[in-house]
Amino acid sequence: MIPFNKPPFVGKEIEYIKKAIKNNKICGDGEFTKACNNWIEQKTKKALLTTSCTHALEMAAILADIKEGDEVIMPAFTFVSTADAFVMRGAKIVFVDIRPDTMNIDENLIEAAITSKTKVIVPVHYAGVACEMDKILQIAKKYNLLVVEDAAQGVMSTYKGQALGSIGDFGCYSFHETKNYSSGEGGAILIRDDRYIERAEIIREKGTNRSKFWRGQIDKYTWVDLGSSYLPSELNAAYLYAQLERAQEINNHRLALWKLYNNSLKSLEESGRIELPTIPDECKHNAHMFYIKTKGIEERTELIKFLKENGITAVFHYIPLHTSPAGLKFGYFNGEDIYTTAESERLLRLPMYYSLTEDEVRYVVKKVEEFYRWVC
Ligand SMILES: *Cc1c(COP(=O)(O)O)cnc(C)c1O
Repeated sequence: MIPFNKPPFVGKEIEYIKKAIKNNKICGDGEFTKACNNWIEQKTKKALLTTSCTHALEMAAILADIKEGDEVIMPAFTFVSTADAFVMRGAKIVFVDIRPDTMNIDENLIEAAITSKTKVIVPVHYAGVACEMDKILQIAKKYNLLVVEDAAQGVMSTYKGQALGSIGDFGCYSFHETKNYSSGEGGAILIRDDRYIERAEIIREKGTNRSKFWRGQIDKYTWVDLGSSYLPSELNAAYLYAQLERAQEINNHRLALWKLYNNSLKSLEESGRIELPTIPDECKHNAHMFYIKTKGIEERTELIKFLKENGITAVFHYIPLHTSPAGLKFGYFNGEDIYTTAESERLLRLPMYYSLTEDEVRYVVKKVEEFYRWVC
């Protein structure tokens, strides 16, 4: 049996969790949280570990001062949290179509969706492959908008050499168990500019200036702004740090599996049976996922069934947000949905996780090939 995902575990997680317990520090912002923040800060100005990427996005929405009626532009082909975090602050979501090659927001459709109420653009780096950030930043600058990167899937990926999550005003990482590096549930917010750092610390600590207090900058802490409890336990950070320490090795292994899938399935692409992912030249990805595209939804359903009969779990996502009950209520699609729905119905994710072996990849490939020998 080959599951779709196994959460990463590399060995030192338990030792580090024991150390956190021994330190008598299992709430947030101890040694391991700091180590994780420092690791991310090799890539950006400031990073704060959070309880999830959803919560990092919520923090970004608060930092962006989103108010009732403000508009936020994003693709509809994304996870619900990308939209939810802004809806919670009263925003209206304006969805635009994606590019069929990367499944990312089509940077050429963003400008037409901007109104006087637009505040933020949210590029989602699907599968850890970067959106066209130069163009997006240029539009944001022209219209004075903020850019919040949903880089949930993008840890260790780059765009023109810059880490995903470090390019926009804010970046949001996920350390959910389905992501490349995990603490079970977890995330981080990346902050590019100094001016947002102090408020971010306050929002994350229930609206108090406790972070300043810990650093000895003030002698008592107090309630100064709105906020919530967005900091994770040290136990989660300890689990995560064991993997961040070995991120390069994890990344290399995932990329090797990804290339094996890609090379092995090339002939099916050449014969026009399936499509494989596109990685633009300026993007270095992190092998977050390996997906193929089938002819359409019926073929995909058949393939999932066939793989399941052979012990392989393959999955798809997302139901485009603009077609969901909440999406209809909280947003609208600007322009025409040419690719979002059609491409989402063709996409199928194959098993991809750190402990997956090359033999298992070869087995999955063999079964996909077998399926296409049967269908005409
Ligand atoms: C996983 C994911 C999220 C949510 O991450 P959590 O850490 O589970 O909150 C948000 N956006 C995208 C694109 C994701 O893949």
